[in-house]
Amino acid sequence: MAIRWQRPTVDTKFHIDMEWWREQQRDIRLYIRDALCSECRAEYGENYRELQEVDWVDEQTGEVMRVDALWHAVCTCCSLKPDYITPNTPIIDAIFRTFLANGNKPLSVRELYERLDRRPPEVILRILTAGPTYMGIRPVYEDS
Ligand SMILES: [Zn+2]
Repeated sequence: MAIRWQRPTVDTKFHIDMEWWREQQRDIRLYIRDALCSECRAEYGENYRELQEVDWVDEQTGEVMRVDALWHAVCTCCSLKPDYITPNTPIIDAIFRTFLANGNKPLSVRELYERLDRRPPEVILRILTAGPTYMGIRPVYEDS
């Protein structure tokens, strides 16, 4: 019955925890704006606060959802560009941008490693679990 805390492993799923951003009272949209490509930044960067939500159709379910328009731009445009994540992107930003690009679908450290191919999974796990939470990237806790 009780939820037992388990030490995260390379197979534990992580995601961007929006609750963390609320708790920290930090604006995730500032960071999403940083992930915009130069064209989108020119188009939305100045007045991104006015940009609210757009309809987005889930290709798998056909369900229509309201999503943040900035985030939507990242998913459909900026993340497809070659300089979205470069070898010079700090690893934690690269992980954050990976979740932005996939609509924040949970990924394990092993899956992040396969996408980023940068550091060994054990190192990524240590970055995400030792010390403070970065960019709200936390394990997905499921009730059991
Ligand atoms: Zn773009």
